[in-house]
Amino acid sequence: MLRQVAEGVLIHESEFMQSNAVVVQGRAGVLLIDPGVTGDEIACLANDLRELGQPVVAGFSTHPHWDHLLWHARLGAAPRYGTARCAATVRDRLPDASAKARVAEHLIPPDIAGQVPLDLMGLITGLPAETAQIPWDGPGVRIVEHQAHAPGHAALLIEERGVLVAGDMLSDVLIPMLDLNGTADPIEDYLAALRLLEGAAGDVDVLVPGHGSIGGADQVRARIDQDRAYVHALRDARAPSDPRVGPSAKSGWEWVSGVHAGQLEGLAQESERDGTPG
Ligand SMILES: [Zn+2]
Repeated sequence: MLRQVAEGVLIHESEFMQSNAVVVQGRAGVLLIDPGVTGDEIACLANDLRELGQPVVAGFSTHPHWDHLLWHARLGAAPRYGTARCAATVRDRLPDASAKARVAEHLIPPDIAGQVPLDLMGLITGLPAETAQIPWDGPGVRIVEHQAHAPGHAALLIEERGVLVAGDMLSDVLIPMLDLNGTADPIEDYLAALRLLEGAAGDVDVLVPGHGSIGGADQVRARIDQDRAYVHALRDARAPSDPRVGPSAKSGWEWVSGVHAGQLEGLAQESERDGTPG
């Protein structure tokens, strides 16, 4: 079911980790950002769009993780975009069908693995580096690229609608998940990304995270502060006082706590390797 969150901007929420697919209405059809997770859900979204008489004219994946790279034949054959770095990472990590199958096996939770459509996963075109806006015939969508959660991660700012689509940043259910694979300073990268979002999101009324609840204007500031506090705690190897970690959190806190423990460990190993103190 589609729900309007701002003029001409609708979302479709998945049962998997409160994932949000975002639909932006343009002149001749819609831009679809991170279409969803299970085949049934994406097909349902495709039906809703068909009923509205709104074909998908462009797609966008905010970053190269499996749950943001999916597609369904019923959505049609519109061009699907990502940043150049996102597309290059997809080519690297998902070069062929057997790589997709491995992803399915190792990353997709077993209870939904059979329901996730992999055939069209990751078929995106990289937009040239420094591309400022998604090329399409609708309200301007500014690409705010940063290195934080994944290579080539992009938040999207729809200025005339006052909407920030944050990708896997600024969630109320997931803690900041750092990209610990091959970046020199994941902590500083993440803090820099939060500063960038802070600078871009001053006039935003609606915040749409990749996973979690839609936030109002006050939530933009609150979630940036909350994420920054978490990253600082992680940097200093302190226990975060964060409502998303621990039993007071909404569903899935055990998983989130596991992610937190893994990040502490990953960072400790990294500082051991380059000899810098904890
Ligand atoms: Zn995600």
